[in-house]
Amino acid sequence: MRARGAPRASSRRDARAPRRATADVARRGATRTVARRARARAGARADATDGDASAVVVGGGVIGLTVALTLAERGMDVRVVAASFERTTSSVAAAFWFPFIVRTEPAALSDAWAIKSYEWYRELAREDGACGVEMRRCREFLKAPAPAAGWANAVEHYRALERGEHDEKYAGGYEFDVPVIAMPKFLPWLRTRCEALGVKFETRTLADVREARAFASNSERAFVVNCTGLGARRLVNDDLVKPVRGQVVYLKQDCGYGLFDDDPNALAYLIPRADCTVLGGTAQVDNDSLEPDDADERDIIAKCKRLWPELDETKVIGTNVGLRPSRTVVRCERDPADATLIHAYGHGGAGVTLCRGTALEVLALIEDA
Ligand SMILES: Cc1cc2nc3c(=O)[nH]c(=O)nc-3n(C[C@H](O)[C@H](O)[C@H](O)COP(=O)(O)OP(=O)(O)OC[C@H]3O[C@@H](n4cnc5c(N)ncnc54)[C@H](O)[C@@H]3O)c2cc1C
Repeated sequence: MRARGAPRASSRRDARAPRRATADVARRGATRTVARRARARAGARADATDGDASAVVVGGGVIGLTVALTLAERGMDVRVVAASFERTTSSVAAAFWFPFIVRTEPAALSDAWAIKSYEWYRELAREDGACGVEMRRCREFLKAPAPAAGWANAVEHYRALERGEHDEKYAGGYEFDVPVIAMPKFLPWLRTRCEALGVKFETRTLADVREARAFASNSERAFVVNCTGLGARRLVNDDLVKPVRGQVVYLKQDCGYGLFDDDPNALAYLIPRADCTVLGGTAQVDNDSLEPDDADERDIIAKCKRLWPELDETKVIGTNVGLRPSRTVVRCERDPADATLIHAYGHGGAGVTLCRGTALEVLALIEDA
């Protein structure tokens, strides 16, 4: 991704300990599959009795790294291969926890994955100040009345805005507490955490997903997990994956609340993070330009100023562009022709929001194979 003045990564303390096991892994036979799936989805940790399984994860964005961490926590031997670990869509994500421009089949799956991720982030925010995750109060403004979100009961604080708490041009809105993730800190934190569990990293562009096998360790059960986001268009010839271009502007001024107008025609948000406030946005379908656009930058600042009039544009410190890997529905499944190849891509505008839930689903698919 090409950035102007993008905030830089920093890391401080060491990573947190893995989560504790939640199920009895000694159970075998008929109940084994059900127990494993349940435990995997609950985020259980490694257990040496699970045998000799390994995985090559292709992709070093938030999906690939979270999958790698989740499998390594489960005791698997994991290697990550990626064309780049720095220039990814994930590094540009704003990023706040909010299911946006994403579809799953069935539809309720995205909320389920989002809630798993929410619980994980909330725990990280409490336990490890170095990971770049913090809880923030956000307000969503709506042009037309809309029911509460499907995930409303899963978050710590969720309420409808009162009249007087929003501009008159809005019909209403909601206030909620959600994780905000500073990606320049979080992605290196994920990698460090993976390395502490023995995960190996390799920078390589694959022309065919079968090339990933060359990086597999000698194990009885060797899996490949394809987490290449937009790269899946070429890697597995998936025409359903399309870029949705997003530009952001970095501001050295804290707006306190996260503010969000998700009307696709007027998309505007301010996400206050530890390092800066991220302003957005654009959602340009099928536009794959990574070049920052001055007109987009001006438009983003003007839209955000309408949401937060105190915005001081002399405090703009940079801009950046990423391409959301949009797909008709997220693909998270075993390959129909090869049960040891698992696909996990197409998370659109919600990869950060859905990453841990997706990773637990990948783990369940591996444990069921
Ligand atoms: C401006 C903007 C704001 C956003 N804000 C949010 C937000 O607030 N909240 C949220 O949840 N989401 C947000 N998103 C969406 C989020 O960034 C994506 O959903 C997420 O980053 C997708 O992650 P990924 O790991 O699938 O893809 P990527 O981060 O793109 O990673 C793909 C990886 O695959 C590798 N790869 C690709 N092809 C190959 C190949 N042939 N061989 C080897 N490696 C390959 C790449 O090098 C890379 O490492 C935002 C996106 C943008 C652009």
